[in-house]
Amino acid sequence: MHPQFQRELWLLVFLIFFAAIVGSAFDLSMLFVNLVLLAYIIFTFLNISKLHRWLLHRKNEPLPEGRGYWGEIFHELFLMEKKHAKNKLTLSETILRFQDATTALPDAMIILNKHQQIDWSNNAAESLVGVRNPEDTQQPISNLIRAPEFMKYLNRKDYSKALTMPSPEQPTKQLAVQIIPYVKQQTLIICRDVSHINKLEEMRSSFVANASHELRSPITVISGYLETLQHHLPDNPEKLAKIINNMYDQSKRMERLVTDLLALSKLETRPTDQHDNEVEIPALLTAIKESAIILSDNKKHNIELNIKTKSNISGNYEELYSLFSNLVNNAVRYTPNKGHISILWEEIDKQMVFTVTDSGHGIPKQHIPHLTERFYRVNIDRSRESGGTGLGLAIVKHIVERHDGRLEISSKINVGSTFRCIFPTTRLIKH
Ligand code: ADP
Repeated sequence: MHPQFQRELWLLVFLIFFAAIVGSAFDLSMLFVNLVLLAYIIFTFLNISKLHRWLLHRKNEPLPEGRGYWGEIFHELFLMEKKHAKNKLTLSETILRFQDATTALPDAMIILNKHQQIDWSNNAAESLVGVRNPEDTQQPISNLIRAPEFMKYLNRKDYSKALTMPSPEQPTKQLAVQIIPYVKQQTLIICRDVSHINKLEEMRSSFVANASHELRSPITVISGYLETLQHHLPDNPEKLAKIINNMYDQSKRMERLVTDLLALSKLETRPTDQHDNEVEIPALLTAIKESAIILSDNKKHNIELNIKTKSNISGNYEELYSLFSNLVNNAVRYTPNKGHISILWEEIDKQMVFTVTDSGHGIPKQHIPHLTERFYRVNIDRSRESGGTGLGLAIVKHIVERHDGRLEISSKINVGSTFRCIFPTTRLIKH
């Protein structure tokens, strides 16, 4: 028995006993006891009525005050109400957090009831599938996603594999649709935009096809020569030397290809964790100019290096060497004899800028946006004749991006081309 209840019971017994004793003095014990009981009933009734009124209007009214046992009951109710309000607040905070998270989700989410009507959907469902919340609530899903393959998938009840279909709202996008049945015969539909994954897959397979094609031609030439030599060794030493030279050129071409492929793969997979060392750009460009002169050889280019600032940038020496030498070597390879090539290192608006300009053949405008794609060449024969692999500018683009910079290309047919790398202030090391 609760102590407060015990106390109340004792109080009532005491009051009855006391009324009986006082009443006996007047020989009216029964009357006194009845009066006490009546007063107790009225007191209890008043408290019940207070409690009832509070229960009816508890949103606006404070809890009534009470004495004794009733005071205890009201206090317990007050604690319960407080706990309830706290739970309500936590619950609404959780719901808000859940709503914020689903709103931020890039995937479309739709919940269907057992009649395949929409119960709820998030923001992405509107842009990807055209299901609006709350306007489309209670609409059958078949009214909104009309693709027959979707309805077939929904009714098939085997959702182990996702369905891929074009987005009803943006047909250029591909969606992976996954259905997840859950409690109370409800169904969750998740639609994810997988266009970029499909594009990556396409790029990967076209890269493998291109790389194999590039490697196959030198291999075919070498194996053709070897087959000939196997059956007939020429007596003429000059003829033999020519064959060996050709095979050597083809093997060098394969070597360059494999070296560039490995360089590209490293750039795509290695983390950029050693990119904060100071790189002495003036010394690096002087070395690149020297090797450009050797590459130019009897083409007699006029190669000019202009270092306007001693400032450097932070980065990775090997990568920056590869970046600048690729661009300078391209200028040498695509500029006719006695042409002019200028290399410039300067600071513009606290950004460090490397520019290489040539007086070469130039590049038609429509090709410029594609130059950094792997194996993209404007003129395949010209690229191969000069020992190109079609990967140089793809490597350049990766390195520039790994150094937070950007590459700008401008060109005019028969006037020449300019390649410019711009590195942000954050990379600048002032001297
Ligand atoms: P490649 O090994 O063929 O030179 P790159 O990726 O370095 O491959 O360059 C891609 C294409 O861009 C080249 O095939 C060439 O057509 C064009 N190109 C690059 N640099 C120059 C330049 N300085 N002048 C003219 N065309 C250029």
